[in-house]
Amino acid sequence: MGKYGRVTKKVLGRLKGIVGEENVFTVRDELEKYSCDEMPVPKRFMPEVVVKPENTVEVLKVLSLANKEKIPVTPRSGGTGLSGGSVPIHRGILLSLEKMNRIVEVDEENFVAVVEAGVTLLDLYKAVESKGLYYPLYPGELSACIGGNVATNAGGMRAVKYGVTRSFVLGLEAVLPIGEIIETGGKFVKFSSGYDLTQLLIGSEGTLAVITKAILRLTVKPKVRSVLLIPFKNVFDAIKTVPKILRCGITPVGVEFMEKDAIKIVEDYLGRRFPYGEAEAFLLTILEAGEESEAYKMAGKVADVCMENGAVDVLIPDTEKAKRELLEFREKLYPALKGFGEMDLADVVVPRSLIAHFVEAVKKVSEKYGIPIIVYGHAGDGNVHLHLYGDKKTRLKVLEEIYGLGKSMGGAISGEHGVGFEKKKFFLRFTDKKQIGLMKKIKRVFDPNNILNPGKIFG
Ligand SMILES: Cc1cc2nc3c(=O)[nH]c(=O)nc-3n(C[C@H](O)[C@H](O)[C@H](O)COP(=O)(O)OP(=O)(O)OC[C@H]3O[C@@H](n4cnc5c(N)ncnc54)[C@H](O)[C@@H]3O)c2cc1C
Repeated sequence: MGKYGRVTKKVLGRLKGIVGEENVFTVRDELEKYSCDEMPVPKRFMPEVVVKPENTVEVLKVLSLANKEKIPVTPRSGGTGLSGGSVPIHRGILLSLEKMNRIVEVDEENFVAVVEAGVTLLDLYKAVESKGLYYPLYPGELSACIGGNVATNAGGMRAVKYGVTRSFVLGLEAVLPIGEIIETGGKFVKFSSGYDLTQLLIGSEGTLAVITKAILRLTVKPKVRSVLLIPFKNVFDAIKTVPKILRCGITPVGVEFMEKDAIKIVEDYLGRRFPYGEAEAFLLTILEAGEESEAYKMAGKVADVCMENGAVDVLIPDTEKAKRELLEFREKLYPALKGFGEMDLADVVVPRSLIAHFVEAVKKVSEKYGIPIIVYGHAGDGNVHLHLYGDKKTRLKVLEEIYGLGKSMGGAISGEHGVGFEKKKFFLRFTDKKQIGLMKKIKRVFDPNNILNPGKIFG
């Protein structure tokens, strides 16, 4: 534990006094549930105690106590992160926001939802869609919560048209480790009033403040969603077609790419066959429109562009069931690949024009080291997911090369999963030292005792 304080009996008593005995957990089984996230190879660190506050004042009191006693606090919402961000590597208090799961308000006039940090995406979708409104962010894992989405700046399969979480957060309520509550932003859509602290907290991975509430921008739910499955002879033709789709005057909601190797694994996982299973690569393009006729026209235009650029065919399912089944192949890639063997996962982002070059270079690295790398991802926004198999030592060398390649192409270490502790080494190696220095200074202002999620991002 080094310089940190311990969760003594006295501290436990005080925690129980703050959140109630029923919300403080020290039994092994419960601690174990919170000892890892959804990282491909879970690395377990047991917290000393799990605390589940039910409101912001309780969060404030827990943080004030932890700050006084210098006990590490790891915030966690859904625990679906992929970089070890919510793993309590310095033990201490695991602060689970799961009981703060109230949808405070869906404000139909301002197109805004106000929600607590522990609200799951699934519950948010249900609440806003029942009023004909729409929260377009779709990171795929519906048990993820708004607190975690905000803290990682989650992206997902609709980012080409709508952007990432950052584009939808208008304001936050957050508790600082020094024992203060701040409310940033508001129900308004413009802001030019000093430093934008909302945006600073987004993507801060629980290292600056505990997010307790978010004000989210909503839009109107589109009537029609089309899904196009486009098989190609090879992955490069598929990816090179993406900028051409984006230039044809239509903005798809998302453009995903997948390779045959990945499809084979997910076919076995789901126990059903994928259409055109013999093709080498696929684009899955998602479109949204106000009317069927408009969706039909858009799909036709995208199909023409793809056929002119080497597509084998274009499949446009017309039932909701068939659309869902196609999307499921993409959404289940991660659990399917996770079960396939020990691996590392990277989510490098590069300028969209360079995805094909990046993937080409990654394939060469894979050949050089003789280890399989399965690539797929959000082709429409330059975010490539890479699953590396093989022995750990080789994987680390390959990761180093891949991150170096991404950086040399003007990219970044992570497009949406965050740095956590898993990518820290590479983040530090490939990020400008001046910027790291500034980040560390910001961290000290928010958290002078370094109790909040220590050891993450750069700690
Ligand atoms: C099958 C699968 C598919 C996925 N697909 C995508 C995808 O397409 N796009 C994408 O972006 N992600 C994806 N993810 C990753 C994950 O769902 C996201 O990172 C999500 O945003 C995490 O939310 P969470 O509530 O589970 O956060 P957690 O795992 O609980 O925490 C993640 C990070 O946020 C911090 N944190 C959590 N809550 C708070 C809070 N209230 N205040 C301050 N900090 C907090 C934690 O300390 C940690 O650093 C996927 C995960 C899985 C398992």
